[in-house]
Amino acid sequence: MSSTQIIDGKAIAAGLREDLAAQVTALGVQPGLAVILVGDDPASHVYVRNKIKACEKVGIKSFESRLPEKVTQAEVAAEIKAFNDNPRVHGILMQLPVPDHLNSDDLIHLIDPAKDVDGLTFINMGKLVAGDDSGMVPCTPQGSLTLIKSVEENLSGKHAVVIGRSLLFGKPMAQLLLAENCTVTTAHSRTQNLEEVCKQADILVAAVGRAKMVKGSWIKPGAIVIDVGINRQEDGKLCGDVDFTQAQGVAGAITPVPGGVGPMTIACLLKNTVAAAKA
Ligand code: NAP
Repeated sequence: MSSTQIIDGKAIAAGLREDLAAQVTALGVQPGLAVILVGDDPASHVYVRNKIKACEKVGIKSFESRLPEKVTQAEVAAEIKAFNDNPRVHGILMQLPVPDHLNSDDLIHLIDPAKDVDGLTFINMGKLVAGDDSGMVPCTPQGSLTLIKSVEENLSGKHAVVIGRSLLFGKPMAQLLLAENCTVTTAHSRTQNLEEVCKQADILVAAVGRAKMVKGSWIKPGAIVIDVGINRQEDGKLCGDVDFTQAQGVAGAITPVPGGVGPMTIACLLKNTVAAAKA
């Protein structure tokens, strides 16, 4: 049994943050990130707190807008517009999910594409598909690609399988891998023989949200495995979509959960904010 490299997302993200802190010092203008948080979802509050702390550490100023659960679509829209018009704000992030009575798609598309650090507006998604690198790339796929390339720089001709086709992750991830000249398969809930599809993957990316769904026997020996899923187990601990224990000795390299993709998502958010400030 050959040994499996554990891809240390925490360390790679720390290196990226250090680099960004140096860039911010040299920039001459303080980058600003606005975070809009609607309602009382405890997980969202934790995510936002972590993002704001991470901003402070690299010298990015954060502008926080906490809105009540019952806020109207028009009120959130007005908040976005104010941030669009504020020259001290270079990036705008709306923490998802928002309460059901709000239309998150309509709100996201109000964000100035130049400040869309989540890369979710049509302009930025279109640029990604068109291969125009002037757009903002969504943070989690961007961070996942960095982790893959920390193991293997040249991905040309590799077969990449992405499980999941969400707008937030699966679709942009597939585009990024295609741009690296991978042969890309996107799998989803209607995919037949998922196990057989996964076994073809030189690069396997799982973003489903089902604990330990990908078994060790689904992994091609030596494959790079990126586990995006975050699942809470009965004992309260977090685990990914891949059975991490079973993957040992089969995968060539794998990201742990926690400590893999998660830290990279925040680091890439900071990276997009600094890039927006530079622009
Ligand atoms: P999502 O919008 O719920 O999408 C899940 C995808 O998985 C869908 O495309 C769905 O297919 C597919 N799927 C569901 N059941 C399946 C099955 N049995 N076999 C194959 N595919 C199946 O979720 P998401 O936003 O992409 O997030 C996915 C996971 O990543 C979640 O656990 C989330 O918490 C995590 N995540 C982590 C980070 C991070 O920073 N680490 C960031 C974002 C997301 P259909 O399209 O056919 O329904």
